[in-house]
Parts: sequence; C-alpha cells; structure tokens
Amino acid sequence: MILHGKPVQERVLADVKAGVAKLMSTRGVTPALAVVLVGGDPASQIYVGHKKRGADAVGIAARDFLFPQGIAQRELNELLRSLSGDPTIHAILLQLPLPKGLDETAALAAIAPDKDVDGLHPTNLGRLLAGEPGVVPCTPSGCMEILDQYGAKLEGAEVVVVGRSRLVGKPLAQLLLARHATVTMCHTRTRDLAQHTRRADVLCVAAGRPRMITADMVKEGAWVIDVGMNRLDTGKLAGDVDFDSVVTRAGAITPVPGGVGLMTIAMLLKNTLAAAERQSAR
Ligand code: NAP
Repeated sequence: MILHGKPVQERVLADVKAGVAKLMSTRGVTPALAVVLVGGDPASQIYVGHKKRGADAVGIAARDFLFPQGIAQRELNELLRSLSGDPTIHAILLQLPLPKGLDETAALAAIAPDKDVDGLHPTNLGRLLAGEPGVVPCTPSGCMEILDQYGAKLEGAEVVVVGRSRLVGKPLAQLLLARHATVTMCHTRTRDLAQHTRRADVLCVAAGRPRMITADMVKEGAWVIDVGMNRLDTGKLAGDVDFDSVVTRAGAITPVPGGVGLMTIAMLLKNTLAAAERQSAR
C-alpha cells in the first residue's frame, strides 16, 4: 500500500476550513498567524511562501514579519514577546533554521506557549513528555495522522525511529509511545542500525540522508514512514528511504514527494485554528 499524503492532507484542510468558517460565524474571529522570517535564506523564503498560501486557502490570515540577518538576539526575542502579547495574533511561526549566531532555543522560548504553533517551546515539549495536552510539532503529528488515517496498528508494535532531532525524531517517538508502541530510537552512534530497523513493524525515518534505508534493512510487511526531504544534485527530491527497493518489501510506505511533506503545513494550519479557538474562548 502506498501511503499517499494527499487524501489525508485534504481531509485535514477541509476540517480546518470548516473550523475557520465556524469560528468566524460564531465568535467573529479570523485566526491570525504571524510568520516570522529572519534573513533572506532562499529555501526558508520558499517554505514561508508555501505556508502563507496554505493559510490563505483555508481562510487563515497570515501576516509576514521579516527581520534582517544581523538582528540582535535581544531584539528578536523582544519582537517575539511583543507578538506574543498582541491580541490580534493567535499563532506565531518562527521559520527555522535561524541565521548563524542566533540561538533558536532562546528565540523559541520568547514565544508564548499558547501561540507557539510549531510546538517547539520548552513548555509544549515538556507537556508532550508528560503526556499532557499541548501544541504538538507539525511534522511528527503529520506522521501520526497518516498512520491513523490508513489504519496502522501501533499498540504493542515494535516501532523504530531513525533520527532524534527536536523537530521530528524526539517528538515523534513520544507520540508513538503515548499510543503504546514499543519505541526504539536510533541515531548516528547507534551500533548496527540495520539490526534495529529489521525488527520494526513500523519504521519511521527522519535522518536527512538520501535513500539510506534499503530493502535489506526492512522487515517484510513493515510500515515505513519516510520523513526525509533531500535535494539531490540533479535537483530531484529524495527521501531517506530507497523507495524503489523498499516498496517491494514493505507492507505500506509513504512516497517522497507526496507523503509526509504534504502534512506539515496542514498540521500547522490545524494548530493555528486550535490556538485561535482556545484564545477566543477566554
Ligand atoms: P536533523 O536535525 O539533521 O537530525 C537528523 C537526525 O538523524 C539526527 O538525530 C542524526 O543523529 C540522525 N542521523 C543522521 N544520519 C544518520 C545515520 N546515518 N544513521 C542514523 N541516524 C542518523 O534533521 P531533521 O530536522 O530531524 O530532519 C530529518 C529529515 O527530515 C531531513 O531530510 C529533513 O529535510 C526532513 N524534514 C521533513 C519535513 C517535512 O515536512 N516532511 C519536516 C522536517 C524535516 P545524531 O543526533 O546522532 O546526529
């Protein structure tokens, strides 16, 4: 089975669009997302453009806040604090990575946890660890949405997550643990990666290494979630999984492009709506 992201994305976006319309008609509120970009990194500019167009399509008002590369940490933190205090903004997205010299952890901590639409504020990461409600990072929750919509069985399953970043691997492992999977996390110091990946009923890969997972590393019938998005020299996009070989062994697999990548913006918009609902209910 190919786990296409498109139908799952469309379902999430349809729900968000309906939720935005309902919020407008019942409370007169349009969800507002502040998109903060520091510096002129071309890839970040493209991502920000996608996010803004996605917001427009579901009726969320996205507002741009562009800051120069040389902005001081104190000034950036202050701006994020001031957006956090602005009642006309419900959600704040700080586009990462920040230019060299700026501390991402300090900047993320300057965002009010309730407006932290990426779920990367220490409070939200702590809530995730504690198993309490909070904002969940978008890419991991997009992976869960795909697994759920296609009916993956997680309880008691052997799940292996390759990659332990704050953005993907760690929060994804927590979400899977909360669903009673037995989770193993692998990283660059893991001895004999294949020995772990071959045990997985569900294998999630977020390593940023094009096609590193080959068919011999995958158990027959396993579900494979490929988070990787790697631009090859040819200009083509490749996942962390060697799709052409693994597809012959896996029971289910996400393609790249067309899989997890489609979910991240959808979950960002879902988080934005949820933030506006919470704040307008007070
Ligand atoms: P990251 O911060 O670079 O983290 C990569 C993780 O993978 C690290 O924990 C690293 O281990 C581990 N790793 C790297 N090479 C490995 C290897 N050979 N064997 C085992 N583990 C290895 O990357 P990220 O931000 O999590 O992103 C991962 C991938 O997902 C990238 O391709 C990125 O473009 C993609 N991504 C996609 C989306 C989307 O919307 N679909 C969103 C975010 C990221 P160490 O900790 O030991 O260094």
